[in-house]
Amino acid sequence: MPTHLRFRRRSFLGLIFFFSLSTSLLYFIYSAPGIVNEYVFMAQATGIQIRENVKNIGAQVLEQVVRGAYSVNGTDYSYDFNLSESDSPPPTYLPEGFTYLPSQVCPDRLPSMKGRLEVNMSEVSLEEVERSLLESEPNMAPGGYWKPKDCLPRWKVAILVPFRNRHEHLPILFRHLVPVLRKQRLQFAFYVVEQGGTEPFNRAMLFNVGYKEAMKDLDWDCLVFHDVDHLMQNDRNYYGCTDMPRHFAVKLDKYSYMLPYNEFFGGVSGLTVKQFKKINGFPNAFWGWGGEDDDLWNRVQFANLTVSRPHGEQGRYMSIPHHHRGEVQFLGRYSLLRHSKARQKVDGLNNLNYSPIVSRRPLYTNITVSLSRKLAPIADY
Ligand code: UDP
Ligand code: MN
Repeated sequence: MPTHLRFRRRSFLGLIFFFSLSTSLLYFIYSAPGIVNEYVFMAQATGIQIRENVKNIGAQVLEQVVRGAYSVNGTDYSYDFNLSESDSPPPTYLPEGFTYLPSQVCPDRLPSMKGRLEVNMSEVSLEEVERSLLESEPNMAPGGYWKPKDCLPRWKVAILVPFRNRHEHLPILFRHLVPVLRKQRLQFAFYVVEQGGTEPFNRAMLFNVGYKEAMKDLDWDCLVFHDVDHLMQNDRNYYGCTDMPRHFAVKLDKYSYMLPYNEFFGGVSGLTVKQFKKINGFPNAFWGWGGEDDDLWNRVQFANLTVSRPHGEQGRYMSIPHHHRGEVQFLGRYSLLRHSKARQKVDGLNNLNYSPIVSRRPLYTNITVSLSRKLAPIADY
C-alpha cells in the first residue's frame, strides 16, 4: 500500500482512540466527583502524550507530502523488501548451556542474547562508566578495543558516533551498549567523531571521517553508524553486518514504534566496508539537520543493494529526549536529494579532505575535526 494511504489510516485510528478516551474520561469525571482532581491530572497527562503522538504522526505525514511533491527519488528503482525480516518467522536461538571452541567462529544467536532489554537513561559521569566497564575487563586497551577470547569474532565492528555537545548522552550509550556487544561476541571499538568549528552539524561527513580514521587503526570489516542518543531495547538486534546494508533502528519510541516511512535509514545503520566503499560513503554536502540518511538510502539502491532490517521486536529503540540547541534544519535537502545519483560519484569518500586530532580514551577513540565546505569540493548541485 502506498505509504501516504497507510498514514492516513493510522491518523484516523488515532482520532478514534482520542475520542473514545476523552469520552470515557468525561464519564468518570461526571460520575465520581471525589476523584475529579486525580482524573483532571490524568487527563492532562494523557493529553500531553496524545499531543506528542499527534505531533510526531503529523510530522511524518508532512514528510510524506513533501517527499511526494519533490518526487525525492525521481528514479525508477523498485523497492525490494525481500530482505526485510519483519514478516518472516522469528529465528531460533541456541539452547542454554551450548558450548563452542575458541577455534570456532562465534555464533550470532547465542543463548545469552535473551531479547528484551531494560533501558537506563539516568545521567552518569563518563568516569563512572569507565570504572565499571574496566572493572569487568581490566585488560581493555585505551580506545576501548574488545574481542572475545572464547571464540573467533564473526565481525570486526567499528562503531562510529557523530558528536557535538551531547556530553551527557555518551556515558549512557556506553553503559548500555558495551555489555551487549560483549554478549554478542563481536570484536569492536568505538570512534566518537566530534565536529569542531562553527559550521552547521554535518553528521554524514563526520561518518566519512570516522570511517577513514578507523581503517587506519585496524582492518575492520563492518561499520555501524550510531546516533549517540539511540539505545536498543533488544539484545538480539545483532550488530554484525549482513550481505546487504542493514537498518537497525526500525522502531523508535518517539515515532510510536513505527517506521516513519519505508525509505527511513536513520538512527543506527550498518554496512560492510566493501558495501560502504561501493556506494562512495556518505554525502558531504548535507549541512544541518536532515536528508543525509535519505541520501544514503538512495546510494544503496543505486548500487543495486537493498536494505535489510531486524525481525519485529528486535528493532526497537528508545532515544534519549533532547532539545535541538540552536541546530539548524537543512532546508536544501530535498533539492540535493533529487540529484542523489549524479552526486554519488563525485561527493563522498573520494572528495574528502580533513585534518583530525585523534586521542585515545579508556572506552573510545576521539576524533575531533573542524569541518567546512571547502574540505569536500563539489560542483554545485
Ligand atoms: N548530533 C550531535 N550534536 C548535534 C546534533 C547531532 O552530537 O548538535 C549527533 C548525535 O549523535 C545525534 C545525531 O547526530 O544523535 C542525530 O541528531 P539529532 O539527535 O539531533 O537528530 P533527531 O533526534 O532530531 O533525529
Ligand atoms: Mn536525537
